[in-house]
Formats: sequence, structure tokens, C-alpha cells
Amino acid sequence: MYEVRFHGRGGQGAVMAAQTLAEAAVNEGNYAVAFPFFGAERRGAPVLAFTRIDSKKIFSKTQVYNPDCVVVLDDSLLDTIDVVSGLKPEGIAVINSKEKPEDIDLGKTINTATVDAVSIALEILKAPITNTAILGAFAKATGIIKIESLEESIKRKFGEKLGEKTGEKNALAARTAYEKTVMGKSRGIKKLEARKQWLPTYQEMPVGGSLIESKTDAGLIGPGSFIENKVSGWATYRPLRDREKCVMCLLCWFYCPEGTIHRISNKGDLMTNYDYCKGCGVCANECPVDAIKMVRARA
Ligand code: SF4
Ligand code: SF4
Repeated sequence: MYEVRFHGRGGQGAVMAAQTLAEAAVNEGNYAVAFPFFGAERRGAPVLAFTRIDSKKIFSKTQVYNPDCVVVLDDSLLDTIDVVSGLKPEGIAVINSKEKPEDIDLGKTINTATVDAVSIALEILKAPITNTAILGAFAKATGIIKIESLEESIKRKFGEKLGEKTGEKNALAARTAYEKTVMGKSRGIKKLEARKQWLPTYQEMPVGGSLIESKTDAGLIGPGSFIENKVSGWATYRPLRDREKCVMCLLCWFYCPEGTIHRISNKGDLMTNYDYCKGCGVCANECPVDAIKMVRARA
């Protein structure tokens, strides 16, 4: 059995990638299953998805704890999650990153493939949705599935949902990533921390079940935890405000879902705290005088 674990963020399409891979594997005559694991997240929070492929019927229903391959749709996750946890010794990590494999520190020296899926997605799809590009990299890095099978599955699955043209563009993103994927070995320098406990156990929960503010070894949880949950790692874009154009209507301040725009003086100038800006672009959308431009967060 070949097992794959996808690490992504809500909205990046990890679940769809896992399903598309399973469908392509079935079309090649295998058995396959795909399923997601969601925490209590919203758009942008970490998400897991899994695919199992075998020549025999698959009865296992658990999450994938010892994958043959981990696929990482967002390299900002490498800072906070041990994505290669449980990876088999001969396994491989496929990572969406501008870096070469030897410049990526996974805390272990392991087979690694990288591709700049964000740039490919932006160029072809005009949106930072990296799930189809990363599937192309998966095909190249593992040889478990033919790129042609993936292209066919992508066209069908995305075409049905989003229209034929979008299906074809997504297949092109997969093919482009397939051709641009770089293979190598990761570095193994950083010290990996033991798995952290993010939430209290049910015995620690108060009667009624609402979460109390408490400190865990992963940080603060419950009310007040907002200040510890820096979301800047999620941002593909960030807003730049043109002070000359700004008429101080404060619509951006009002609509920002993260409350990251602050009024910093009596005259009422504004400041964006990029630590808490997830780059959603709502502020730029709402600005009536086009004073906010969204620019790439990481060049
Ligand atoms: S892009 Fe704008 S609206 Fe979105 S989080 Fe950042 S400052 Fe707020
Ligand atoms: S919405 Fe535009 S004009 Fe209004 S305060 Fe924000 S940047 Fe200035």
C-alpha cells in the first residue's frame, strides 16, 4: 500500500488534491481512498488530507501516520509543524517552495522534491491555489502515478466543478510543475520538537464545554489567544496603502477581518500590523479610491 499525507491550509485545495490523486489511481486500475482531517479551523488554518493507493481493496480507515510521501502545499507550515513526522525512511517529501531541496531544513536528511507551485499557479490560474501544480510535482517525484492520468483526472474533476477551461488550465499547471520539479535531499539541521498538545483533554474542559483561556506548551488557547496566533505566514499577498490617495474613510479598518489595521495618531493615520495580516485583500477591495495595492508578501 502507498500512503500519502497532504499538509495544506484551508482554501488551498489539499482535500481536492487528495481526491484527484485517488481518482487518477483508480483510473490506472488500482484501489484508492481519500479523506480529510479538519481541526476547528477557518480559511488559512492547517488542514490534513490523506490518500491510500493499493492493488488490493483497502480496509484501513485511520489517518496516515507513517506515510510513504508527504506533500506540503504551503512551505510556511515547515516553521510550525513537523511535516515529516512518521515518514518512512525511504519516503519522500514534495514541497511547494522556491528553494532547492538542499536549502530546505526538515530536521532530517531525506529525499525531497521542490517546485515553486505558487508562481506556477499565479501565472496559469491567476490565483495562489497550488493543489494541481503540487500533484504534478508528486507525479514526477514518486513515479506512483502517470502525469497523463493526473491530467485526465484534473480535467474531469475540476472541469465538472469549475468549467472545462478551468479544468484544462489546472491540468497545464500540473504538467508545468511536473517539468519544473527539482529533486534532491533536504538538510537535517533544525531540532524537531516533540509533538505539542494544542487543546486541553476532555477531562480538563469546564462543564458546559466552552474553552477557557489557558497556556499550553504550544502557546495560549481560548479567549485572548489571538495575540499569539500570528497569521502572516499564510499571506501570499500583503496590502500597501498609498497615503497620498487615502481619504481616511476607514472602510479598510472597518472591514479587515483580522483587526490588523490600527489608527495610530490623533490625526488618524493608519498602520497595518503585518504579523496579523493574512493577505485576504478585503481592505483593497473595499477601498473606494483604490489607495491599497496587494503585493507579493514573499518575493
Ligand atoms: S489584507 Fe487587508 S483586510 Fe486582509 S487581513 Fe490584511 S489588512 Fe486585513
Ligand atoms: S479604505 Fe482606502 S481611503 Fe479609506 S482609509 Fe482605507 S486606504 Fe484610506
